Amino acid sequence: MYILDEFYIGLDEKKIFGSKCSKCKIVYFPPKIRCKKCLDQTDELIELPQTGILKNFIDSDIGNHVKKKHKNKKQELYGLVQIDTIQSKIIMPILNAEKANLKPGMKLKVVWGKGKITDTPHIIGFEPIDLE
Ligand SMILES: [Zn+2]
Repeated sequence: MYILDEFYIGLDEKKIFGSKCSKCKIVYFPPKIRCKKCLDQTDELIELPQTGILKNFIDSDIGNHVKKKHKNKKQELYGLVQIDTIQSKIIMPILNAEKANLKPGMKLKVVWGKGKITDTPHIIGFEPIDLE
């Protein structure tokens, strides 16, 4: 089976996978077909933890045009997230959080939702993990 097919099947089961180049030991998320370092095909899919660290964040109030468009909408937050155990970082919506409560280095977890086109579960964002 082609490596990216397995990735999408993983989403059906609410699992997330990264692709790994076993030569360089680098894991990519979202999965990449080729290793950026050695340019060989990545040859392994590994399940990733559904937690990560918030590296940085922005909100949608940046830029007035965005503000006008979303006048009645709740402020949207976007974070640069580093999934635990790997080096790749992705930009994802940060949900169920207030800007004032976000800080770089905080722990986040995946939020699953339904896709717009299909019922396949999708990662719709990340939310802070409550640390009691
Ligand atoms: Zn490589």
